Amino acid sequence: MDAPEVEEEEGRRWDPTTLTAVVVGAGPTGALAAHYLAMRGYKVEVYDKGARPSPGDAASVPLVLTSRGAIAFEELGLDGQRRVGPTATPLRGVWDMVGRRLRPLDSSSAFRRTFVTDRSGLAADVIRAAEQRYPNTVRFHFNTELTRAELKNRVAGARPSTSEPADAADVNASAEIDVPYDLLVGADGLESTVRRILKAKVKDFGVIRPVEETAGYRAVSRLPRPSREPLTGFYTHRPQEYVYDWSAPGKPSVRLYIDIDGSVGGLVSGLRRWDDAAAAAAELQAAYPDSFPEEWAAAVGQQVSSPALGEPRHAAILQCSQFYGPRTVLLGDAAHAVTGASGPMGLGQGPSAAVESVRTLALVLRGAQDDLDKVPEVYSNVRGDAVMAMQMLEFMELTRDSERARRLKFASWWFAWSAFVTQGFRWLAETVGGLLSAVMPKTFLSAPQVLARLEDRRIGYSEVIKMLQGYASPVVALLLGAIFVGLFMAFNRALA
Ligand SMILES: Cc1cc2nc3c(=O)[nH]c(=O)nc-3n(C[C@H](O)[C@H](O)[C@H](O)COP(=O)(O)OP(=O)(O)OC[C@H]3O[C@@H](n4cnc5c(N)ncnc54)[C@H](O)[C@@H]3O)c2cc1C
Repeated sequence: MDAPEVEEEEGRRWDPTTLTAVVVGAGPTGALAAHYLAMRGYKVEVYDKGARPSPGDAASVPLVLTSRGAIAFEELGLDGQRRVGPTATPLRGVWDMVGRRLRPLDSSSAFRRTFVTDRSGLAADVIRAAEQRYPNTVRFHFNTELTRAELKNRVAGARPSTSEPADAADVNASAEIDVPYDLLVGADGLESTVRRILKAKVKDFGVIRPVEETAGYRAVSRLPRPSREPLTGFYTHRPQEYVYDWSAPGKPSVRLYIDIDGSVGGLVSGLRRWDDAAAAAAELQAAYPDSFPEEWAAAVGQQVSSPALGEPRHAAILQCSQFYGPRTVLLGDAAHAVTGASGPMGLGQGPSAAVESVRTLALVLRGAQDDLDKVPEVYSNVRGDAVMAMQMLEFMELTRDSERARRLKFASWWFAWSAFVTQGFRWLAETVGGLLSAVMPKTFLSAPQVLARLEDRRIGYSEVIKMLQGYASPVVALLLGAIFVGLFMAFNRALA
Protein backbone atom coordinates (compact mmCIF):
# COMPACT_ATOMS: atom_id res chain seq x y z
CA MET A 1 0.00 0.00 0.00
CA ASP A 2 1.34 3.44 -0.90
CA ALA A 3 1.97 5.87 1.93
CA PRO A 4 -0.18 9.01 1.84
CA GLU A 5 1.52 12.00 0.21
CA VAL A 6 1.05 14.14 3.34
CA GLU A 7 -0.56 12.90 6.54
CA GLU A 8 -3.70 14.77 7.50
CA GLU A 9 -5.24 14.90 10.95
CA GLU A 10 -8.21 16.76 12.42
CA GLY A 11 -7.85 19.55 14.98
CA ARG A 12 -4.08 20.07 15.00
CA ARG A 13 -2.83 22.87 17.28
CA TRP A 14 0.66 22.72 15.83
CA ASP A 15 0.64 22.83 12.06
CA PRO A 16 3.66 20.99 10.59
CA THR A 17 3.31 22.83 7.29
CA THR A 18 4.48 25.96 9.11
CA LEU A 19 7.40 24.19 10.84
CA THR A 20 10.95 23.53 9.68
CA ALA A 21 12.92 20.45 10.67
CA VAL A 22 16.66 20.51 10.19
CA VAL A 23 18.04 16.99 9.87
CA VAL A 24 21.77 16.53 10.35
CA GLY A 25 23.07 13.47 8.48
CA ALA A 26 21.75 11.81 5.32
CA GLY A 27 22.67 8.22 6.16
CA PRO A 28 19.86 5.65 6.30
CA THR A 29 18.54 7.20 9.55
CA GLY A 30 18.59 10.84 8.42
CA ALA A 31 17.19 10.07 4.96
CA LEU A 32 14.36 8.06 6.48
CA ALA A 33 13.65 10.77 9.08
CA ALA A 34 13.49 13.40 6.31
CA HIS A 35 11.01 11.25 4.42
CA TYR A 36 8.78 10.71 7.46
CA LEU A 37 8.87 14.41 8.42
CA ALA A 38 7.99 15.50 4.88
CA MET A 39 5.17 12.98 4.89
CA ARG A 40 3.79 14.76 7.98
CA GLY A 41 3.99 18.08 6.16
CA TYR A 42 7.19 19.59 7.62
CA LYS A 43 9.58 21.66 5.57
CA VAL A 44 12.79 19.64 5.84
CA GLU A 45 16.39 20.78 5.35
CA VAL A 46 18.94 17.96 5.45
CA TYR A 47 22.66 18.65 5.84
CA ASP A 48 25.35 16.06 5.32
CA LYS A 49 29.05 16.73 5.50
CA GLY A 50 29.71 13.97 2.98
CA ALA A 51 28.91 13.68 -0.71
CA ARG A 52 25.51 12.52 -1.98
CA PRO A 53 25.46 8.76 -1.24
CA SER A 54 25.59 6.27 -4.10
CA PRO A 55 25.83 2.45 -4.10
CA GLY A 56 29.34 1.21 -3.33
CA ASP A 57 30.75 4.66 -2.51
CA ALA A 58 33.46 5.35 0.06
CA ALA A 59 30.95 5.46 2.95
CA SER A 60 29.36 2.15 1.95
CA VAL A 61 29.21 -0.62 4.50
CA PRO A 62 27.10 -3.75 4.41
CA LEU A 63 24.03 -3.28 6.57
CA VAL A 64 21.98 -6.11 7.92
CA LEU A 65 18.41 -5.09 8.67
CA THR A 66 16.12 -7.42 10.54
CA SER A 67 12.37 -7.11 10.11
CA ARG A 68 12.50 -4.64 13.03
CA GLY A 69 14.34 -2.18 10.79
CA ALA A 70 12.90 -3.30 7.47
CA ILE A 71 9.37 -2.32 8.46
CA ALA A 72 10.32 1.38 8.35
CA PHE A 73 11.23 1.08 4.66
CA GLU A 74 8.21 -1.08 3.87
CA GLU A 75 5.83 1.47 5.42
CA LEU A 76 7.01 4.27 3.16
CA GLY A 77 5.89 2.22 0.16
CA LEU A 78 8.97 3.14 -1.87
CA ASP A 79 8.37 1.50 -5.24
CA GLY A 80 11.86 2.15 -6.60
CA GLN A 81 13.50 0.67 -3.52
CA ARG A 82 14.75 -2.84 -4.32
CA ARG A 83 17.04 -3.38 -1.36
CA VAL A 84 14.83 -3.93 1.70
CA GLY A 85 11.20 -5.04 1.75
CA PRO A 86 8.77 -7.17 -0.23
CA THR A 87 10.61 -6.87 -3.58
CA ALA A 88 14.06 -7.63 -2.13
CA THR A 89 15.58 -11.08 -1.54
CA PRO A 90 15.55 -11.93 2.16
CA LEU A 91 18.71 -13.29 3.77
CA ARG A 92 18.52 -17.09 3.91
CA GLY A 93 21.52 -17.74 6.08
CA VAL A 94 25.18 -17.30 6.87
CA TRP A 95 27.76 -19.57 5.30
CA ASP A 96 30.55 -20.55 7.67
CA MET A 97 33.23 -20.61 4.96
CA VAL A 98 35.80 -22.35 7.14
CA GLY A 99 33.58 -25.25 8.20
CA ARG A 100 31.62 -25.10 4.88
CA ARG A 101 28.33 -25.13 6.74
CA LEU A 102 25.21 -23.06 6.21
CA ARG A 103 23.62 -21.56 9.30
CA PRO A 104 20.09 -21.00 8.02
CA LEU A 105 18.05 -17.97 9.02
CA ASP A 106 14.31 -18.08 9.45
CA SER A 107 12.80 -15.67 6.92
CA SER A 108 9.51 -17.50 6.79
CA SER A 109 7.30 -14.52 7.60
CA ALA A 110 7.33 -10.75 7.18
CA PHE A 111 7.78 -10.50 10.94
CA ARG A 112 11.08 -12.40 10.77
CA ARG A 113 12.58 -11.30 7.47
CA THR A 114 16.18 -10.06 7.40
CA PHE A 115 17.97 -8.24 4.56
CA VAL A 116 21.59 -7.52 3.81
CA THR A 117 22.31 -4.45 1.74
CA ASP A 118 24.60 -1.52 1.14
CA ARG A 119 24.30 1.51 3.48
CA SER A 120 24.86 4.15 0.83
CA GLY A 121 22.68 2.44 -1.79
CA LEU A 122 19.82 2.30 0.69
CA ALA A 123 20.27 5.92 1.76
CA ALA A 124 20.44 6.96 -1.92
CA ASP A 125 17.13 5.21 -2.67
CA VAL A 126 15.33 6.91 0.23
CA ILE A 127 16.79 10.35 -0.62
CA ARG A 128 15.71 10.03 -4.25
CA ALA A 129 12.21 8.96 -3.20
CA ALA A 130 11.89 11.90 -0.77
CA GLU A 131 13.08 14.38 -3.41
CA GLN A 132 10.63 12.99 -5.96
CA ARG A 133 7.63 12.90 -3.64
CA TYR A 134 8.18 16.16 -1.80
CA PRO A 135 10.09 18.37 -4.27
CA ASN A 136 8.86 21.59 -2.66
CA THR A 137 9.46 20.69 0.98
CA VAL A 138 12.59 18.52 1.24
CA ARG A 139 16.04 19.81 0.40
CA PHE A 140 19.31 17.88 0.79
CA HIS A 141 22.54 19.85 1.13
CA PHE A 142 25.61 17.68 0.67
CA ASN A 143 29.24 18.53 1.50
CA THR A 144 27.73 20.84 4.08
CA GLU A 145 28.50 20.37 7.72
CA LEU A 146 26.55 21.41 10.79
CA THR A 147 28.99 23.11 13.13
CA ARG A 148 26.93 24.72 15.88
CA ALA A 149 23.42 25.11 17.24
CA GLU A 150 22.02 27.80 19.52
CA LEU A 151 19.41 25.77 21.33
CA LYS A 152 17.59 28.76 22.86
CA ASN A 153 17.27 30.77 19.65
CA ARG A 154 16.80 27.62 17.54
CA VAL A 155 19.42 28.52 14.98
CA ALA A 156 22.01 26.09 13.63
CA GLY A 157 25.21 26.95 11.76
CA ALA A 158 26.26 25.16 8.56
CA ARG A 159 29.29 25.57 6.32
CA PRO A 160 30.86 23.73 3.38
CA SER A 161 32.81 20.72 4.59
CA THR A 162 35.13 20.29 1.60
CA SER A 163 36.93 22.42 -0.93
CA GLU A 164 34.36 21.18 -3.46
CA PRO A 165 31.53 23.66 -4.03
CA ALA A 166 28.63 22.73 -1.75
CA ASP A 167 25.37 21.54 -3.32
CA ALA A 168 23.48 24.14 -1.33
CA ALA A 169 23.05 27.30 -3.37
CA ASP A 170 22.75 29.29 -0.17
CA VAL A 171 26.08 28.21 1.32
CA ASN A 172 28.94 29.92 -0.43
CA ALA A 173 32.41 28.47 -0.36
CA SER A 174 33.68 30.33 2.68
CA ALA A 175 30.72 31.50 4.76
CA GLU A 176 28.92 29.80 7.57
CA ILE A 177 25.18 30.36 7.34
CA ASP A 178 22.49 30.50 10.00
CA VAL A 179 19.78 27.89 9.63
CA PRO A 180 16.66 28.54 11.73
CA TYR A 181 14.72 25.48 12.81
CA ASP A 182 11.71 24.39 14.84
CA LEU A 183 13.03 20.86 15.34
CA LEU A 184 16.68 19.82 15.15
CA VAL A 185 17.24 16.15 14.34
CA GLY A 186 20.69 14.70 15.02
CA ALA A 187 21.07 11.70 12.71
CA ASP A 188 24.78 12.28 12.30
CA GLY A 189 26.17 8.93 13.32
CA LEU A 190 28.59 7.66 15.95
CA GLU A 191 30.69 10.84 16.11
CA SER A 192 27.60 13.09 16.19
CA THR A 193 28.06 16.87 16.35
CA VAL A 194 24.49 17.38 17.58
CA ARG A 195 25.19 15.04 20.50
CA ARG A 196 28.38 16.94 21.27
CA ILE A 197 26.37 20.19 21.35
CA LEU A 198 23.76 18.66 23.68
CA LYS A 199 26.51 17.38 25.96
CA ALA A 200 28.05 20.84 26.15
CA LYS A 201 24.79 22.75 26.65
CA VAL A 202 22.25 20.50 28.37
CA LYS A 203 22.58 19.97 32.10
CA ASP A 204 22.96 16.30 33.13
CA PHE A 205 23.30 15.11 29.53
CA GLY A 206 25.74 12.22 29.80
CA VAL A 207 27.46 10.03 27.18
CA ILE A 208 29.56 6.94 27.73
CA ARG A 209 31.17 4.26 25.63
CA PRO A 210 31.35 1.42 28.13
CA VAL A 211 33.15 -0.86 25.74
CA GLU A 212 34.93 -0.68 22.42
CA GLU A 213 36.38 -3.42 20.22
CA THR A 214 40.13 -3.05 19.79
CA ALA A 215 40.10 -4.83 16.42
CA GLY A 216 39.45 -2.23 13.72
CA TYR A 217 37.35 -2.89 10.62
CA ARG A 218 36.90 -1.59 7.12
CA ALA A 219 34.49 -2.07 4.26
CA VAL A 220 35.50 -3.58 0.89
CA SER A 221 33.52 -3.59 -2.34
CA ARG A 222 33.48 -4.83 -5.93
CA LEU A 223 35.90 -7.72 -5.43
CA PRO A 224 37.02 -9.26 -8.75
CA ARG A 225 35.67 -12.59 -9.95
CA PRO A 226 38.18 -15.19 -8.67
CA SER A 227 39.53 -18.04 -10.82
CA ARG A 228 38.04 -20.60 -8.43
CA GLU A 229 34.69 -20.28 -6.72
CA PRO A 230 34.95 -19.78 -2.96
CA LEU A 231 32.05 -22.20 -2.60
CA THR A 232 30.54 -24.59 -5.11
CA GLY A 233 27.75 -22.72 -6.89
CA PHE A 234 28.73 -19.36 -5.35
CA TYR A 235 27.91 -17.42 -8.51
CA THR A 236 24.53 -19.10 -8.86
CA HIS A 237 23.42 -17.63 -5.52
CA ARG A 238 21.03 -14.73 -5.75
CA PRO A 239 22.14 -11.25 -4.62
CA GLN A 240 21.43 -10.66 -0.90
CA GLU A 241 20.67 -14.37 -0.38
CA TYR A 242 23.59 -15.20 1.93
CA VAL A 243 26.33 -13.73 4.05
CA TYR A 244 29.70 -15.53 3.71
CA ASP A 245 31.71 -15.58 6.89
CA TRP A 246 35.40 -16.37 7.36
CA SER A 247 36.32 -16.28 11.04
CA ALA A 248 38.47 -18.28 13.42
CA PRO A 249 39.99 -17.60 16.87
CA GLY A 250 42.97 -15.23 16.71
CA LYS A 251 42.53 -14.56 12.99
CA PRO A 252 41.17 -11.65 10.99
CA SER A 253 37.58 -12.07 9.92
CA VAL A 254 35.80 -11.32 6.66
CA ARG A 255 32.07 -11.08 6.00
CA LEU A 256 30.95 -10.75 2.39
CA TYR A 257 27.67 -10.72 0.48
CA ILE A 258 26.51 -10.32 -3.11
CA ASP A 259 24.90 -6.90 -3.67
CA ILE A 260 21.90 -6.31 -5.98
CA ASP A 261 24.16 -5.45 -8.94
CA GLY A 262 25.97 -8.79 -8.55
CA SER A 263 29.15 -7.28 -7.08
CA VAL A 264 30.76 -8.84 -4.01
CA GLY A 265 31.57 -6.65 -1.00
CA GLY A 266 31.58 -6.69 2.75
CA LEU A 267 33.64 -6.04 5.84
CA VAL A 268 37.12 -7.05 7.04
CA SER A 269 38.15 -6.85 10.68
CA GLY A 270 41.05 -7.67 12.95
CA LEU A 271 43.92 -7.33 10.46
CA ARG A 272 47.32 -6.73 12.07
CA ARG A 273 48.52 -4.44 9.26
CA TRP A 274 46.13 -2.02 7.56
CA ASP A 275 48.78 0.12 5.94
CA ASP A 276 50.45 -2.50 3.73
CA ALA A 277 48.47 -4.14 0.90
CA ALA A 278 50.80 -7.13 0.51
CA ALA A 279 50.97 -7.80 4.27
CA ALA A 280 47.18 -7.62 4.61
CA ALA A 281 46.71 -9.98 1.64
CA ALA A 282 49.31 -12.40 3.03
CA GLU A 283 47.61 -12.39 6.45
CA LEU A 284 44.25 -13.33 4.91
CA GLN A 285 45.82 -16.03 2.74
CA ALA A 286 47.66 -17.49 5.73
CA ALA A 287 44.48 -17.39 7.85
CA TYR A 288 42.25 -19.11 5.28
CA PRO A 289 44.54 -20.80 2.72
CA ASP A 290 41.94 -23.22 1.36
CA SER A 291 38.83 -21.09 1.39
CA PHE A 292 39.68 -17.44 0.72
CA PRO A 293 40.47 -16.84 -2.98
CA GLU A 294 43.89 -15.39 -3.71
CA GLU A 295 42.47 -12.67 -5.98
CA TRP A 296 40.16 -11.49 -3.21
CA ALA A 297 42.99 -11.41 -0.67
CA ALA A 298 44.97 -9.18 -3.06
CA ALA A 299 41.97 -6.91 -3.75
CA VAL A 300 41.09 -6.65 -0.06
CA GLY A 301 44.74 -5.78 0.71
CA GLN A 302 44.68 -3.03 -1.92
CA GLN A 303 41.39 -1.56 -0.73
CA VAL A 304 41.93 -1.59 3.04
CA SER A 305 45.42 -0.06 2.78
CA SER A 306 44.37 2.98 0.76
CA PRO A 307 45.97 5.99 2.52
CA ALA A 308 42.82 8.06 1.87
CA LEU A 309 40.87 5.94 4.37
CA GLY A 310 42.41 7.12 7.63
CA GLU A 311 42.21 4.95 10.74
CA PRO A 312 40.01 1.82 10.67
CA ARG A 313 36.75 2.16 12.58
CA HIS A 314 36.23 0.46 15.94
CA ALA A 315 32.80 -0.81 16.92
CA ALA A 316 31.55 0.48 20.27
CA ILE A 317 28.52 0.53 22.48
CA LEU A 318 27.42 4.14 22.96
CA GLN A 319 25.00 5.09 25.70
CA CYS A 320 23.36 8.50 26.26
CA SER A 321 21.50 9.47 29.42
CA GLN A 322 18.73 10.86 27.17
CA PHE A 323 18.06 11.25 23.47
CA TYR A 324 16.83 14.84 23.48
CA GLY A 325 17.44 18.48 24.29
CA PRO A 326 15.30 21.58 23.76
CA ARG A 327 13.53 21.07 20.41
CA THR A 328 16.22 18.52 19.56
CA VAL A 329 16.21 14.75 19.15
CA LEU A 330 18.98 12.24 18.54
CA LEU A 331 18.30 9.34 16.19
CA GLY A 332 20.16 6.25 15.03
CA ASP A 333 23.84 5.74 15.75
CA ALA A 334 24.06 9.29 17.13
CA ALA A 335 21.79 8.19 19.99
CA HIS A 336 22.64 4.55 20.67
CA ALA A 337 25.23 2.63 18.73
CA VAL A 338 25.91 -1.05 19.32
CA THR A 339 28.66 -3.32 18.05
CA GLY A 340 26.62 -5.78 16.05
CA ALA A 341 27.51 -8.65 18.38
CA SER A 342 24.05 -9.26 19.70
CA GLY A 343 20.87 -10.71 18.29
CA PRO A 344 20.09 -13.94 16.56
CA MET A 345 23.25 -14.89 14.63
CA GLY A 346 24.84 -11.64 15.75
CA LEU A 347 23.42 -9.70 12.84
CA GLY A 348 21.49 -6.54 12.30
CA GLN A 349 20.99 -5.04 15.72
CA GLY A 350 22.72 -1.70 15.11
CA PRO A 351 21.19 -0.53 11.82
CA SER A 352 17.79 -1.98 12.72
CA ALA A 353 17.79 -0.10 16.01
CA ALA A 354 18.96 3.03 14.19
CA VAL A 355 16.02 3.09 11.82
CA GLU A 356 13.65 1.89 14.55
CA SER A 357 14.34 5.17 16.35
CA VAL A 358 12.96 7.07 13.32
CA ARG A 359 9.76 5.10 13.52
CA THR A 360 9.46 5.83 17.22
CA LEU A 361 9.85 9.55 16.48
CA ALA A 362 7.21 9.36 13.74
CA LEU A 363 4.77 7.64 16.13
CA VAL A 364 5.42 10.21 18.86
CA LEU A 365 4.98 13.14 16.44
CA ARG A 366 1.65 11.72 15.46
CA GLY A 367 0.60 10.87 19.04
CA ALA A 368 1.59 14.33 20.36
CA GLN A 369 0.05 16.07 17.33
CA ASP A 370 3.42 17.69 16.55
CA ASP A 371 3.62 19.56 19.85
CA LEU A 372 7.34 20.17 19.52
CA ASP A 373 7.64 21.34 23.12
CA LYS A 374 6.67 17.84 24.24
CA VAL A 375 7.83 15.56 21.41
CA PRO A 376 11.59 15.41 22.18
CA GLU A 377 11.19 14.31 25.80
CA VAL A 378 8.35 11.89 25.07
CA TYR A 379 10.33 10.36 22.20
CA SER A 380 13.35 9.93 24.45
CA ASN A 381 11.32 8.27 27.22
CA VAL A 382 9.53 5.93 24.82
CA ARG A 383 12.79 4.93 23.16
CA GLY A 384 14.75 4.65 26.41
CA ASP A 385 13.43 1.31 27.68
CA ALA A 386 13.87 -0.53 24.40
CA VAL A 387 17.40 0.82 23.97
CA MET A 388 18.42 -0.06 27.51
CA ALA A 389 17.19 -3.63 27.06
CA MET A 390 18.86 -3.92 23.64
CA GLN A 391 22.17 -2.67 24.99
CA MET A 392 22.00 -5.06 27.95
CA LEU A 393 21.56 -7.96 25.55
CA GLU A 394 24.36 -6.61 23.41
CA PHE A 395 26.69 -6.33 26.38
CA MET A 396 25.85 -9.89 27.41
CA GLU A 397 26.48 -11.23 23.92
CA LEU A 398 29.65 -9.25 23.35
CA THR A 399 31.45 -10.53 26.42
CA ARG A 400 30.21 -14.12 26.06
CA ASP A 401 32.79 -15.30 23.60
CA SER A 402 36.06 -15.34 25.55
CA GLU A 403 38.17 -14.92 22.40
CA ARG A 404 36.20 -11.82 21.44
CA ALA A 405 36.14 -10.56 25.02
CA ARG A 406 39.95 -10.47 25.02
CA ARG A 407 39.79 -7.89 22.23
CA LEU A 408 37.56 -5.49 24.15
CA LYS A 409 38.55 -2.24 25.78
CA PHE A 410 36.35 -1.31 28.74
CA ALA A 411 35.95 2.34 29.72
CA SER A 412 36.69 1.48 33.37
CA TRP A 413 37.08 -1.44 35.78
CA TRP A 414 33.36 -0.98 36.60
CA PHE A 415 32.26 -2.02 33.11
CA ALA A 416 34.72 -4.91 33.04
CA TRP A 417 33.28 -6.07 36.35
CA SER A 418 29.69 -5.64 35.19
CA ALA A 419 30.56 -7.73 32.12
CA PHE A 420 31.64 -10.48 34.52
CA VAL A 421 28.39 -10.17 36.52
CA THR A 422 26.39 -10.15 33.28
CA GLN A 423 27.98 -13.41 32.27
CA GLY A 424 27.02 -14.89 35.64
CA PHE A 425 23.44 -13.77 35.02
CA ARG A 426 23.50 -15.31 31.60
CA TRP A 427 24.96 -18.57 32.86
CA LEU A 428 22.18 -18.81 35.48
CA ALA A 429 19.47 -18.02 32.89
CA GLU A 430 20.93 -20.66 30.55
CA THR A 431 21.22 -23.31 33.25
CA VAL A 432 17.76 -22.77 34.76
CA GLY A 433 16.13 -22.32 31.35
CA GLY A 434 17.93 -25.42 30.03
CA LEU A 435 16.74 -27.56 32.95
CA LEU A 436 13.17 -26.29 32.87
CA SER A 437 12.84 -26.64 29.09
CA ALA A 438 14.26 -30.19 29.27
CA VAL A 439 11.74 -31.20 31.94
CA MET A 440 8.75 -29.23 30.58
CA PRO A 441 9.52 -28.44 26.93
CA LYS A 442 5.98 -27.29 26.20
CA THR A 443 5.94 -24.78 29.07
CA PHE A 444 9.46 -23.36 29.11
CA LEU A 445 11.95 -22.18 26.50
CA SER A 446 15.71 -22.52 26.81
CA ALA A 447 17.76 -19.28 26.91
CA PRO A 448 18.85 -19.58 23.23
CA GLN A 449 15.20 -20.13 22.27
CA VAL A 450 14.25 -17.00 24.23
CA LEU A 451 16.95 -14.98 22.44
CA ALA A 452 15.91 -16.37 19.06
CA ARG A 453 12.47 -14.82 19.62
CA LEU A 454 14.11 -11.47 18.86
CA GLU A 455 14.09 -12.51 15.21
CA ASP A 456 10.38 -11.71 15.33
CA ARG A 457 9.80 -7.97 15.22
CA ARG A 458 6.69 -8.23 17.39
CA ILE A 459 8.82 -9.33 20.35
CA GLY A 460 10.44 -6.44 22.25
CA TYR A 461 13.94 -6.42 23.73
CA SER A 462 12.46 -5.68 27.16
CA GLU A 463 10.27 -8.79 27.00
CA VAL A 464 13.29 -10.96 26.25
CA ILE A 465 15.30 -9.46 29.10
CA LYS A 466 12.34 -10.02 31.45
CA MET A 467 12.07 -13.67 30.42
CA LEU A 468 15.77 -14.23 31.10
CA GLN A 469 15.47 -12.40 34.42
CA GLY A 470 12.55 -14.68 35.26
CA TYR A 471 14.99 -17.62 35.10
CA ALA A 472 17.94 -16.02 36.88
CA SER A 473 16.32 -13.81 39.53
CA PRO A 474 14.77 -16.56 41.73
CA VAL A 475 18.18 -18.26 41.98
CA VAL A 476 19.90 -14.98 42.89
CA ALA A 477 17.16 -14.26 45.47
CA LEU A 478 17.59 -17.77 46.95
CA LEU A 479 21.37 -17.35 47.14
CA LEU A 480 21.10 -13.94 48.79
CA GLY A 481 18.43 -15.32 51.16
CA ALA A 482 20.68 -18.27 52.09
CA ILE A 483 23.60 -15.90 52.77
CA PHE A 484 21.38 -13.70 54.93
CA VAL A 485 20.02 -16.67 56.94
CA GLY A 486 23.57 -18.06 57.33
CA LEU A 487 24.86 -14.71 58.64
CA PHE A 488 21.87 -14.39 60.97
CA MET A 489 22.42 -17.88 62.41
CA ALA A 490 26.14 -17.29 62.80
CA PHE A 491 25.43 -14.02 64.61
CA ASN A 492 22.92 -15.75 66.93
CA ARG A 493 25.41 -18.50 67.69
CA ALA A 494 28.09 -15.93 68.50
CA LEU A 495 25.72 -14.11 70.86
CA ALA A 496 24.76 -17.37 72.59
C1 LIG B 1 32.75 2.62 8.53
C2 LIG B 1 31.45 2.09 9.11
C3 LIG B 1 31.31 0.72 9.25
C4 LIG B 1 30.13 0.20 9.77
N1 LIG B 1 30.01 -1.13 9.84
C5 LIG B 1 28.88 -1.67 10.29
C6 LIG B 1 28.72 -3.08 10.34
O1 LIG B 1 29.57 -3.83 9.98
N2 LIG B 1 27.57 -3.59 10.80
C7 LIG B 1 26.58 -2.77 11.21
O2 LIG B 1 25.55 -3.28 11.61
N3 LIG B 1 26.68 -1.44 11.18
C8 LIG B 1 27.82 -0.87 10.74
N4 LIG B 1 27.96 0.48 10.73
C9 LIG B 1 26.88 1.29 11.27
C10 LIG B 1 25.84 1.49 10.26
O3 LIG B 1 26.41 2.05 9.12
C11 LIG B 1 24.77 2.40 10.86
O4 LIG B 1 24.13 1.72 11.92
C12 LIG B 1 23.74 2.79 9.82
O5 LIG B 1 24.40 3.37 8.72
C13 LIG B 1 22.70 3.79 10.33
O6 LIG B 1 23.37 4.84 10.85
P1 LIG B 1 23.01 6.37 10.78
O7 LIG B 1 22.29 6.79 9.56
O8 LIG B 1 22.42 6.66 12.11
O9 LIG B 1 24.50 6.96 10.74
P2 LIG B 1 25.55 6.94 9.56
O10 LIG B 1 25.27 5.91 8.54
O11 LIG B 1 26.88 6.91 10.22
O12 LIG B 1 25.29 8.35 8.89
C14 LIG B 1 25.60 9.56 9.56
C15 LIG B 1 25.70 10.66 8.52
O13 LIG B 1 25.89 11.90 9.19
C16 LIG B 1 26.83 12.68 8.48
N5 LIG B 1 27.41 13.65 9.44
C17 LIG B 1 28.17 13.39 10.53
N6 LIG B 1 28.47 14.53 11.16
C18 LIG B 1 27.88 15.54 10.45
C19 LIG B 1 27.83 16.96 10.62
N7 LIG B 1 28.43 17.58 11.63
N8 LIG B 1 27.14 17.68 9.70
C20 LIG B 1 26.52 17.09 8.66
N9 LIG B 1 26.55 15.74 8.46
C21 LIG B 1 27.21 14.98 9.35
C22 LIG B 1 27.82 11.67 7.94
O14 LIG B 1 28.49 12.17 6.79
C23 LIG B 1 26.90 10.49 7.60
O15 LIG B 1 26.46 10.52 6.26
C24 LIG B 1 29.10 1.06 10.20
C25 LIG B 1 29.25 2.44 10.05
C26 LIG B 1 30.40 2.95 9.50
C27 LIG B 1 30.52 4.47 9.31
